[in-house]
Amino acid sequence: MKRIVILGAGESGAGAAVLAKKEGLDVFVSDMSKISDKYKKLMNDHDIEWEEEHHTKDKILNADEIIKSPGIPFSAPMIQKVIEKGIHIISEIEFAGRYTDSKMICITGSNGKTTTTSLIYHIFKSAGYDVGLAGNIGISLALQVAESPHKYYIIELSSFQLDNMYNFRANIAILLNITPDHLDRYNNCMQNYVDAKMKIIQNQTEDDSFIYWNDDPIIKKELSRYDIKAVKCPFAELKEKGAIGYIEEGKYKIEKPTPFNMEQEELSLTGKHNIYNSLAAGIASNISGIKKDIIRKSLSDFPGVEHRLEKVTKVRGVQYINDSKATNVDACWYALESMKTPVILILGGKDKGNDYNAIKELVKEKCVGLVYLGADNTKLHKFFDQMEIPIKDTHSMKDCVTACYEMAKSGDTVLLSPCCASFDLFHNMEDRGEQFKTLVKNL
Ligand code: ADP
Repeated sequence: MKRIVILGAGESGAGAAVLAKKEGLDVFVSDMSKISDKYKKLMNDHDIEWEEEHHTKDKILNADEIIKSPGIPFSAPMIQKVIEKGIHIISEIEFAGRYTDSKMICITGSNGKTTTTSLIYHIFKSAGYDVGLAGNIGISLALQVAESPHKYYIIELSSFQLDNMYNFRANIAILLNITPDHLDRYNNCMQNYVDAKMKIIQNQTEDDSFIYWNDDPIIKKELSRYDIKAVKCPFAELKEKGAIGYIEEGKYKIEKPTPFNMEQEELSLTGKHNIYNSLAAGIASNISGIKKDIIRKSLSDFPGVEHRLEKVTKVRGVQYINDSKATNVDACWYALESMKTPVILILGGKDKGNDYNAIKELVKEKCVGLVYLGADNTKLHKFFDQMEIPIKDTHSMKDCVTACYEMAKSGDTVLLSPCCASFDLFHNMEDRGEQFKTLVKNL
């Protein structure tokens, strides 16, 4: 019997174990950390052998194939041993793909994956399609294939998942953008990261579609290196040669396969970056045969994704927006760019080597106040204090929200789009966003 060993028992690992068991394989799961009770129960219910807080070498290196959690780097000692032994390593998505013929709509990119994936899922659901959401979001693809299969899957793929995918084929592949990210996991080599992202198109045939952002210089350059068999569906901000999705005279337009347009103003997601996300989602839905009126309605009533430019509430004429997911300068740039009223910007946290020059002009143009929120705000003081914008220095969300409340005038927007990771003062970016929303709602 073929032996499958799964390293890492999170959502993807535990799901892969259930599917492997169902397919009659010999399964063993090993995790260096503690496994959560939820996944222990899932594995116990399916009579799957597992271990936690250590790896038993002999039970791992006798595998025919290894399924690696995307969170485990190649540099991990056990992965090094597996590679030395020449055991094939795959990802959970690759594994699950072997046991389903459903249509796969896969989304990757450095920014915008969750938003675009959720938007496409919303459109498919509204159309009454039998659809599952998978990848980095929600229930693993493997568990759905094993226990609650769907005809379509909308899958958010990180570069880490793509790393160990070989035969998997996306019927519709979406590549949103490529900017430097996670380079520590790619030997500090940008091309390695780019190569991982480009795997989204591997194995595609003439029957498939490849949707991509044509304004992205890296994507443009990469395209010439590949023999792309899928139907190319480029989108761009403005109408240009070849693009099949764009904005023209305030209208959101898709040319093919079914001509479609709507007022840009009616899109529920705002900001330049969200035009791209909405174009990618609209094209994928159009290709999948969803009726125009449903695409139009779904693009305009999508509630958005939590912690991404999420409107919290208005207090005394001041709009509060939670963009806690903006953990890098690029994301904050897009948030500021989309603001139409004077902004009080909340900045700070764990800095990942940020260069704030990228947002300097937008801060000058749009911000009437800056509130620093971090354990150590020194770098922010050094960069922004000289800009002669009123500033407040805070070290807790409570003080930060009070400071914003005191600074903001009716008609302003308070924007939490901090450019930084949250780990200095919060558990994670969700915790930061939740604390912000709770305090704002109690103002
Ligand atoms: P991901 O899942 O790729 O991290 P999200 O949809 O969660 O992407 O968005 C992450 C951050 O990036 C948000 O703060 C958002 O404002 C910004 N963002 C979203 N879409 C794009 C895009 N197409 N280009 C650049 N930035 C984006």
